[in-house]
Amino acid sequence: MSTEKIPYKIYIEESEMPKQWYNVRADMKKKPAPLLNPVTKQPITAEELSEVFCDELVKQELDETNAYIDIPEEIREFYRMYRPAPLVRAYCLEKALGTPAKIYYKFEGNNTSGSHKLNSAIAQAYYAKQQGLKGVTTETGAGQWGTALSMACSYFDLDCQVYMVKVSYEQKPFRREVMRTYGANVTPSPSMLTEVGRKINAEFPGTNGSLGCAISEAVEAASNQEGYRYVLGSVLSQVLLHQTVIGLETKIAMDKYDIKPDIIIGCAGGGSNLGGLISPFMGEKLRGEADYKFIAVEPASCPSLTRGVYAYDYCDTGKVCPLQKMYTLGSGFMPSSSHAGGLRYHGMSSVLSELYDQSLMEAVSVEQTSVFDAAVKFARVEGILPAPESSHAIKVAIDEALKCKETGEEKTILFGLTGTGYFDMYAYEKFNNGVMGDYVPTDEEIKIATDKLPKF
Ligand SMILES: *Cc1c(COP(=O)(O)O)cnc(C)c1O
Repeated sequence: MSTEKIPYKIYIEESEMPKQWYNVRADMKKKPAPLLNPVTKQPITAEELSEVFCDELVKQELDETNAYIDIPEEIREFYRMYRPAPLVRAYCLEKALGTPAKIYYKFEGNNTSGSHKLNSAIAQAYYAKQQGLKGVTTETGAGQWGTALSMACSYFDLDCQVYMVKVSYEQKPFRREVMRTYGANVTPSPSMLTEVGRKINAEFPGTNGSLGCAISEAVEAASNQEGYRYVLGSVLSQVLLHQTVIGLETKIAMDKYDIKPDIIIGCAGGGSNLGGLISPFMGEKLRGEADYKFIAVEPASCPSLTRGVYAYDYCDTGKVCPLQKMYTLGSGFMPSSSHAGGLRYHGMSSVLSELYDQSLMEAVSVEQTSVFDAAVKFARVEGILPAPESSHAIKVAIDEALKCKETGEEKTILFGLTGTGYFDMYAYEKFNNGVMGDYVPTDEEIKIATDKLPKF
């Protein structure tokens, strides 16, 4: 324990970095429901899953019993290039808000992909290489995942084919060029290269695309090419597992200074950064060793936890991926083109869905303009221009800090700052010009999509 003033940035030593990921499912009494084969609707076997995913990742996906899984040395070497990520005490934000709360954030934007996604991309590329594969296919929405995977594939000399949601492909040409700079092949989705892409183009002419649709294309492309597998940047339990490096580092840093967070907040798209941040803390809560309040923050335009239903659903529009039990708005739900591309997914990690269903975690949804308002406040005092996705967590962290200002409570608030927003200046421009809208789907719109959930 230390009595000195807590520094602005709390770093841990390279030698203190986690050597294992933490699998929170091992400590859950009631586990997430099993993945189902989309055709037979029976629990999917490792053999069936390995047609789509790399063998080692299939093992991780299905592992509910091992609490700790070794991080291979090659991955740890790569992590050392951009980790440990700093844990920052937001002294300047606290002062600007005039709150007695103590605010901390874990900053994951310190790499070229500009987000936490590299933590899982490098692991997935490593296992693909180990298996002797030629390459991988994937989808990308806002572009962070595609960028992260391009970087990881070029490091391990793997071919990388990215299906990029059309609206982002057009709105974010710079992201596309970063991916191509790292050697990736980038195709706007829906494309005419796959059967499912051609079908979606015929059904919805002029569509802007969606993540679910790009996933279907990438899965089809992987299964049509020898030596290729599909990889996914969120939602799956394996991705959440890799992202626990965020929470583990945070815990090590906080323990050094005897800091105990009261509230832990993260934005939730498919749930990987939030799951990764909270896992070690949730483990303590599940084992009865400590208590924390966890808050998932989602966009009001795509509110899977707060307004979706807890049911089996397809992970993709093309219905080729395994069925997963999760909070979902329906795989046919087409969210409005909000500016937090990374949060426009219809479903939520099965692990987080189960924790939420057991009331071990809370969730709130927030509107876009209030998110950008918080983003600008944060950027002006903390010096980092945050990604729109990350700013959802900032918004709720500020709200909680302002509650403390009213009550005089000195709570400790921790949030995940998942990335930077340099490629999102089109969105900031709209906000600065006062022409950004808030789109909230009606109950009717959500019902239309959830009525189409698979029944069996
Ligand atoms: C992708 C992304 C997210 C959301 O993904 P999760 O799997 O929910 O973590 C959040 N922030 C940034 C910056 C992203 O790129």
